[in-house]
Amino acid sequence: MDYPPISFSVSRFKQERLTEQILNHTIDFPWLATQFIIFIFITRLSQKIKHVNLFHFVTFRQAVLPSSGQIVHNIQQRYWNSMEFRILSTDGNARRGIIKTQRGDINTPAFMPVGTLGTVKAMSPDELKEIGAEIILGNTYHLYLRPGTDVITELGGLHKFMNWERPILTDSGGFQVFSLAAIRDIKKTGVHFRSHIDGSPHFIGPIEAMKIQGILGSDIAMVFDECIPYPSSFEYAAKSIELTTSWARICKDHQNEKQALFGIVQGGMYKDLRRKSTEDLINIGFDGYAVGGVSVGEPKEEMHEIIYFNAPLLPPDKPRYLMGIGDFSDMLGAVDAGFDMFDCVMPTRNARNGTLFTSLGRVSIKREEFKYDDNPLDPECACYTCRNYSRGYLRHLFLSREILSMRLNTLHNLFFYLNFFKNMRESIIEKTFMDFRKKWETIIT
Ligand SMILES: [Zn+2]
Repeated sequence: MDYPPISFSVSRFKQERLTEQILNHTIDFPWLATQFIIFIFITRLSQKIKHVNLFHFVTFRQAVLPSSGQIVHNIQQRYWNSMEFRILSTDGNARRGIIKTQRGDINTPAFMPVGTLGTVKAMSPDELKEIGAEIILGNTYHLYLRPGTDVITELGGLHKFMNWERPILTDSGGFQVFSLAAIRDIKKTGVHFRSHIDGSPHFIGPIEAMKIQGILGSDIAMVFDECIPYPSSFEYAAKSIELTTSWARICKDHQNEKQALFGIVQGGMYKDLRRKSTEDLINIGFDGYAVGGVSVGEPKEEMHEIIYFNAPLLPPDKPRYLMGIGDFSDMLGAVDAGFDMFDCVMPTRNARNGTLFTSLGRVSIKREEFKYDDNPLDPECACYTCRNYSRGYLRHLFLSREILSMRLNTLHNLFFYLNFFKNMRESIIEKTFMDFRKKWETIIT
C-alpha cells in the first residue's frame, strides 16, 4: 500500500516552546493535542488522506523526530554550555546584568583582565580572585603557538594548566593573525601565516579556531573573523564581512557542546556594512554578540559613532561585548550605549610601564615629585598596594626595575578597574549612571 509522503516540521518557535515546557516540567498537553489536530487537518487537506490510521501516526512521529532531536539539542545546550544571561536593572540603555556559567557568575558590565599566555602578567590566580576578577581572557593565537595545543591537551586544558577555575573567554586568534603574523595568505577556508616567534608556517581557519578553543576548554569561545585595518575601502570591507559571516557559520556548525559561542560584528567604519554584518550573525544565532574592528586607529568620534550605532542593533537579551576597549571614557560611553563586556591590556601593560589609574587621575609613578612622598598611591583605594606602600617606595621600585614594582602596580591597576566596574554596576541599579559617567570622565581622560 502506497502512502503519500508527509512533510511536517516543528517551527523554531514551537521547538523553543516545547524545550521550555520540558525544562519546566509543564508540558501543555492540550496544546500538543491541538498541534496534532492541525496536522491531521493539513495532511487531509493537502494530501487527500481520507483516513488517518496508525501508519500515518507513525510517519508523523518519524517526521517530527528530527525536530525532537532539535528539542533534545536545545535542552543539552542549556545544560552543557549552560550560559544564561539576565538583565537585573537598566538605567537608560546601560544594563546591569549577570551571565551565569558552570564555572561561576559574571556580573555585568564586566571587565575581563587579559591573560594572553595562560597568565595575567604578574598576577597569581589567587590574587586575581581576591581582587574580584570573575572572568579572564586567553589568546588562542598565542597559546596555539606557545606552549601549543599538545601541551595543553596533555596537561588537562587551560583552566587546570593555569590553575584558574573561574570562567575563561578565548578569542579566536583572528585579531592576532591579522595584526601580528608576518606573512599571510587569506583563503575561504582560513589564513596561512608565519609565527611571529620563529617564522614557522601555520594555518588557522574557522574549523581550526574552534578546535583549538575546544582544546583550551574556555567557557566562552569567539568566532574566527577578519579584523580589517583602518582605513579600508568600502569594497574591501564589504568583501571582508562576507568572509567573516561565512566563517561565523562554519564556527557555529563546529561549536563545542560545552562552550558558549559569540559572533563578532565587523564592517569597518561603514554603518551599512555594520548593519548587514549584525543581521547576518543574528540569523545564524549566537549565545552573545561582540563588536570588533573598533579602536584600530580611527578618530575617537568615528569610534563612538560606530559604538552607538551598533549597540541597539544587537539582540537585547544576549550579552554584548565590545572587544579591546579599555579607555575609561570609551568604556563609559559603551556602557551608556548598552554594552556589557570589555577586555583590554591597558591596566596590566600600563602598570608595568609605571602608569597607574587612581581616583585623582592618571599617575606616572616615576616622577620626581613622588621621591619623598609618604602617601599611598591612591588614598581612596583599598588594594594591597595602597594599604601598605608609599608613592616614594613604588617610585623607587619602578626606577630600580624591581619585579615587585610590576606586581604591586598591576595589582593596583586591576583592582582599580574591577572596583570601577563594581561601582558602575551599582550606579546602574541606583539609576545614577549618568552622574557616575560625568564624574569619572572629568577625573580620568
Ligand atoms: Zn590601590
